Amino acid sequence: MSEVSWDEYWEKLKLKLAPFKRVSWEPITEEAQTSVHKSKFSGIPVVTRSGWPCCKNCNEPMQLFAQINSLDIPNEAKTPFGDGILQVFYCTNEEPHCEVDCESWAPHSEATLLRILPVEVDDTFQVTESPVKRAFPEISVVGWREQEDYPDTMELEDLGVNLSEDEIDFLCEDEVPFAGEKLVGWPCWVQGIEYPKCRVCEKEMNFIFQIDSSGEIPYMFGDSGCAHISQCAEHRNELAMVWACC
Ligand SMILES: [Zn+2]
Ligand SMILES: [Zn+2]
Repeated sequence: MSEVSWDEYWEKLKLKLAPFKRVSWEPITEEAQTSVHKSKFSGIPVVTRSGWPCCKNCNEPMQLFAQINSLDIPNEAKTPFGDGILQVFYCTNEEPHCEVDCESWAPHSEATLLRILPVEVDDTFQVTESPVKRAFPEISVVGWREQEDYPDTMELEDLGVNLSEDEIDFLCEDEVPFAGEKLVGWPCWVQGIEYPKCRVCEKEMNFIFQIDSSGEIPYMFGDSGCAHISQCAEHRNELAMVWACC
């Protein structure tokens, strides 16, 4: 590997991985408050008349981790989760420790809520201040950066790609797939491939969004874990979040 440049090596390897190339979208963000309908991390989301979602374990309002409005996504990305406003709420309370009590690393924890609201929600409820204790600052999504994404070495081998030791080292060093927050692409698995199954049809769900530790959200999933949100291709209200750490 010493006689070829990094670029040459990567270009050659990309040809081998071409069948698995996907585009992922990295959010471009700034710390600012924006309207309730916009895509954001933390801050004030669209709240329905039933009120700000509360944790079923401690009954307190949960942090908004992410809200992605399909109207804010670039046209080229189409509508990866359908039309609507994807919302991810997560209880970060430690007394009681809801994440542990409810095993929030696994799908459908009582201390999380994932849903897709219609783009035109009519029964909204005006919230001017977050009711969340120690609410994280609002980070608004002001654009999206397109990037070529490839599966991690574990998933490539699972997909039937034979990788040499050199190629494995290269991909691991080059941090393929992308870490951090992103819309679609390939999940950055920490422990192993873990696509949750739909509770209705039992098929594996599609990866739609990644939230990393201490990225746009000042929160650590265990020891630098990474969280993945998935959706059933057919049953679009079937959503699940899982995370794993080392
Ligand atoms: Zn809670
Ligand atoms: Zn399904």
